[in-house]
Amino acid sequence: MLQWLSKEAIRRIAIALLILLAAAFPLVSCSGGAGGETDGPSVPGSDPDPGPGGNEEPAPESEPEEVDYASLGVNELGQIMVLMYHQIGPEEAEWVRTPENFRKDLETLYEAGYRLIAVNDLLDGKIAVPAGTTPVALTFDDGTIGHFRYIEKDGQMVIDPDCAVGILEQFAAEHPDFGLAATFYIMYEATIFGQPEYVQQKLNYLAENGFEIGNHTNSHIYPGLRSLSPEEARQELAEHVRLTKEYVPGYEVRSLALPYGSYPDDLSYIVEGSYNGTSYHHAGVFLVGNNPAPSPFHADYNAALLPRIRASELEEYTAGFGINNWLEYFAEHPEERYISDGDPDTVVVPEALKEQVDGAKLGDRKLITY
Ligand SMILES: [Zn+2]
Repeated sequence: MLQWLSKEAIRRIAIALLILLAAAFPLVSCSGGAGGETDGPSVPGSDPDPGPGGNEEPAPESEPEEVDYASLGVNELGQIMVLMYHQIGPEEAEWVRTPENFRKDLETLYEAGYRLIAVNDLLDGKIAVPAGTTPVALTFDDGTIGHFRYIEKDGQMVIDPDCAVGILEQFAAEHPDFGLAATFYIMYEATIFGQPEYVQQKLNYLAENGFEIGNHTNSHIYPGLRSLSPEEARQELAEHVRLTKEYVPGYEVRSLALPYGSYPDDLSYIVEGSYNGTSYHHAGVFLVGNNPAPSPFHADYNAALLPRIRASELEEYTAGFGINNWLEYFAEHPEERYISDGDPDTVVVPEALKEQVDGAKLGDRKLITY
């Protein structure tokens, strides 16, 4: 299976490269068309200086690279996996992924043509991954030590290469085109990332290095937001935002992961509200299981209730809906997976899916069907 995935990924990448090359060369030879100057063949990469007599204009910036939507299977109405991790620790368990298995997840995703996006970019529909690839977002709940740990090495405190942040950074260094993004849903009535002396340093680090801090309420009170009055819920949500801003001035918390997946019937005060002078607005609210999220341009996309997928392969807990099940599903049903055209300013969908686009969610983006 893995081998099959690898070959499929390689085939797709090869196609994407060929198309990019094909697009790059005609661009040079076509660029002189408007002026009609055809003195001599255009050689790619030759003579970047037009010379004193040269009046040829540079290739128009707006000239889009030709992407063969059909052969790449471009579908920006396809589904997107938002993976949900809890602890990263030494032994695989219901809420624990080992460092080795987390690395394996990254490798498998990379080989199968997935590329990382930040949750906030998903929520904003700003999906900038290369043509032919599929966006995926990583989320970590509860702010435990395996997410972000400092250890001593040669007399210095360094990021543990076996914690989530360390693993992600190492993987991104080896695979720069994979991207680097993850959202950490923390609660303040716990020791954030398990090392009280480093809370400030870690939150600063996340904010400064492209990671996101998300709301997981202030106290993670059992059994979750559904059991609270609206006023108590507002307090839980606003207090998280207030404390995050206290640690990282100016930081805007923009998404919420529901503790225990619990939410009230009335979502309005979960999405936005205020308490004691602190207001919050969640551009996205995430559940606990078990499905990929709709494309942010799909009529079914509901930012107030976005599903995630358990990044576990323990069948007794995933019940056939874990990360590997979905990876297999999308390998078998590539037409259901979000496949990018490489241009975040356009939304490209097969003609047959046109009716499922929610025009109000397109914003300034141009809809292209094929
Ligand atoms: Zn939690």
